[in-house]
Amino acid sequence: MAGLKITFLGTGTSQGVPMIGCDCPVCRSDDPRDRRTRSSIYVETPEAAWVVDTGPEFRIQCLRERVHRVDAVVYTHAHTDHVMGFDDLRRFCEGGKVLPIYAGPETMADMKRIFAFAFNGENLFPGYVRPDPHVVDPLVPFQIGETTVTPLPVKHGRTPVYGYLMEREGKALAAYLSDAKEVSEAVVERIRGVRVLIVDALRHRHHPTHMSVAEALEFAERVQPGRTLFTHLCHELAHAETEATLPPCVQIAYDGMKLEL
Ligand SMILES: [Zn+2]
Ligand SMILES: [Zn+2]
Ligand SMILES: [Zn+2]
Repeated sequence: MAGLKITFLGTGTSQGVPMIGCDCPVCRSDDPRDRRTRSSIYVETPEAAWVVDTGPEFRIQCLRERVHRVDAVVYTHAHTDHVMGFDDLRRFCEGGKVLPIYAGPETMADMKRIFAFAFNGENLFPGYVRPDPHVVDPLVPFQIGETTVTPLPVKHGRTPVYGYLMEREGKALAAYLSDAKEVSEAVVERIRGVRVLIVDALRHRHHPTHMSVAEALEFAERVQPGRTLFTHLCHELAHAETEATLPPCVQIAYDGMKLEL
C-alpha cells in the first residue's frame, strides 16, 4: 500500500441518476448503486486530503462520507456539475484558513467569474471560502503533500479539461478522467500501466463530449491499467446489468465506493 485512499463521492452524469421526472427502470431501481450523485472523488493520504471537483451535491456527499478534512481542491473543469458545491467549502476555511485551489488556466478563469465574491479578495467575512488559486499546466506535475499530481489534458467537446494522475513513491496509482471524449497518445503514454484507471463511460449510445462504454473499453485497452473503473454514468446504464457484460478487470464505480492503493 502506498497510502492513497479514494472515495467516490459521486459517479453520475450532469443531471444525476435518478433524473428529475424520469420513470425508466434505472431511475426507479432499488439497487443503491443506481443512485448517482454528480461525479467527484475524495482522496486521502496520511499527510493530506483533497477533493477533485465540488458538484451540486458536495455538502450531501461530505455528510454521507463523514468528510472532516479538506486541505485542497483540484478542479477538472468548470461545468456546473463539477463546481456548484464550491460555496460549501467554507466549512473547511473556518478560522481564516486559506484553501489551495488547483485548476487549469481556463477553468480558473471560469471559477473567478462564477465565484467572484470569493476570489476578488474583498470578501473578508470570517468563515467564507478563502481560495488560494494555483493555475496548473498540462503534464506539469505539482505536489499535494507527498503525492505527485499530474494534469492530463483531454478533449471534452470544446471545453479544455484536465484529468489527473496521482503518484506516490514513484508508483502510478490512479488516473482520474471523469469527462473525456478524446485522449492523446502523449497522455496515454504518461498513464500507461497505472494501477487504477477511472474514466467516464456515459452510456452505450454515441455522445459528442463523453466516451461511450465501447469507447471507454477501447481507451482502457490503450492504457493497459491494472484495473478500470467507469464513472460519470447516465440513467441508460443499470449497474448490475451493465457490469455483467464487462471484462473482469473493468468495473463500474458507485457512490461511496472506496479504493485503497
Ligand atoms: Zn461532468
Ligand atoms: Zn431514467
Ligand atoms: Zn463536463
